Amino acid sequence: MFGIKMDKFKEKKRNFIRQIIQKDLMKGKNINICTRFPPEPNGYLHIGHAKSICLNFEIAREYKGKCYLRFDDTNPTKENVNFIKSIIKDIKWLGYQWNGKIRYSSDYFDQFYLYAIQLIKKNLAYVDELSPEEIRFYRGTRTSLGIDSPYRNRTIEENLLLFKKMKNGEFLEKKACLRAKIDMKSNFIVMRDPILYRIKYIEHHQTKKKWCIYPMYDFAQCISDALEGITHSICTLEFQDNRRLYEWILDKLNFKFHPKQYEFSRLNIEYSILSKRKLIKLIEEKIVNNWDDPRILTISGLRRRGYTPLAIRNFCEKIGVTKQENLIELSFLESCIRDELNKKAYRLMAVINPLKIVIENFPQDYEEIIFMPNHPQNKNFGMKKVFFNRELWIEKSDFLEKASDQYRRLTLNNEVRLRNAYIIRANKIEKNKKGEIICVYCSCDFDTLNKHPKDGRKIKGVIHWVSIKHGLPAIFHIYDKLFMTKNPNLEDNFKESINPQSLIIKKGFIEPHFKNLKLGTALQFEREGYFYQDTNFSQNIIFNRTVTLKKSF
Ligand code: ATP
Ligand code: MG
Repeated sequence: MFGIKMDKFKEKKRNFIRQIIQKDLMKGKNINICTRFPPEPNGYLHIGHAKSICLNFEIAREYKGKCYLRFDDTNPTKENVNFIKSIIKDIKWLGYQWNGKIRYSSDYFDQFYLYAIQLIKKNLAYVDELSPEEIRFYRGTRTSLGIDSPYRNRTIEENLLLFKKMKNGEFLEKKACLRAKIDMKSNFIVMRDPILYRIKYIEHHQTKKKWCIYPMYDFAQCISDALEGITHSICTLEFQDNRRLYEWILDKLNFKFHPKQYEFSRLNIEYSILSKRKLIKLIEEKIVNNWDDPRILTISGLRRRGYTPLAIRNFCEKIGVTKQENLIELSFLESCIRDELNKKAYRLMAVINPLKIVIENFPQDYEEIIFMPNHPQNKNFGMKKVFFNRELWIEKSDFLEKASDQYRRLTLNNEVRLRNAYIIRANKIEKNKKGEIICVYCSCDFDTLNKHPKDGRKIKGVIHWVSIKHGLPAIFHIYDKLFMTKNPNLEDNFKESINPQSLIIKKGFIEPHFKNLKLGTALQFEREGYFYQDTNFSQNIIFNRTVTLKKSF
């Protein structure tokens, strides 16, 4: 594993699958490109899946081909309809539409069964009654060869009968399975008589109670691909060896058309985990709240955090597709969303750690309306009205009683500019019994509304503010990375490197203009970061920090 500096990527390397396709097309092969995205509905999609989605759908788009969505639903134990719904929602949200109907591996359960019988009839599959542990043991390891099962040489008739019994529910789970008869001495463990079918007394979300035997992923995947006419079956590197098995199965079943499989390396991102198995642990152990917790890199978490489909697609395009192990910098993902939000976020003022200031020379009941741009560089965003009056909130960190010359904010007996408004001077402070500052009394130079002071004096800093009378109370979820180590995947106990500061909740105020913006608008709270309203909570106004304004680590 090594960190990849994005600028070092070469265009050529990034697109090796596209290069293969281009060559195929030049040779006149595969005129109608057909790809697919085959998620297993046993969890929510994460940004690793987005990489695969973008690759498959973009290839289909680029070469005017087709891309199918096929749920790889061969293991009902961990699958459910909620996961199916969330996956559909996420793919659409990312901006992709599959061709034709949604497909399921389970659509082909009848056919898989008949194909299994064909293999048995060719004496290429047998019913094994070894226990799962024995099967594992008999299979051998990378350094030791496998041993034939004592059930390997049953007659075809016996196997046909036993397989039927398996189907009819006459065996208990784990008491029998169907195995391909290939080669227990193969150098490739996957070829040592892999299991094709196992028994599971579990109702399936699509086929309900029809089956109690389910095909294994490897058997279903290659046949589904062939039945659907997938030309480029793109998957991640761990399936490299399985390619042999797919070829064997399709060959023995006399499929004329064999999809070509191409493998690329999985996406890994610093300070995060992407494996569904590990994500489930985080949820079960309440380290995060759910699949859409904004601290994990699921599509739904990223959406709640304020990431946009375009930013995710741009990220996937820029990281490219290679066969190299990689650990992408988290800051690179962040820069993708920051670049987009800089262009499209409305600017607002929000005070996250409020400190009261009173402008003593400002008339008691007077309110001044100040017009400010919604976006400093883009006039099309228009202007907004902001109320200015005697009592305001500023950030606690924007005031220090005493500070060095480098401190460019408000200090006692010094001046600062309030964003898009006046220059104020801090004259005195009020403290509570604990010695904490609870109010700063200021005066305002009325001749400085959005203009330089007449006497030419220089004002060092600009701070943001919210009118106390008009500001709306809001809660801010300040997110930071979930893990403290760059590659938690390498840790024995990845939970030990959880960042205890991954979520800090703050209560503050936001200017009321926020109410005029449509729900889901991208926001920049000036000087604080990009934020996105969380609609999972109805009572309070809650904002999730999408990303800081500048690279923070
Ligand atoms: P996980 O380990 O998270 O459970 P998976 O590979 O088992 O992932 P699937 O639902 O089977 O999840 O994946 C659907 C597709 O997404 C597959 O083609 C798989 O190769 C791809 N995919 C999954 N994780 C990644 C990743 N981190 N990077 C790139 N592609 C991925
Ligand atoms: Mg899988």
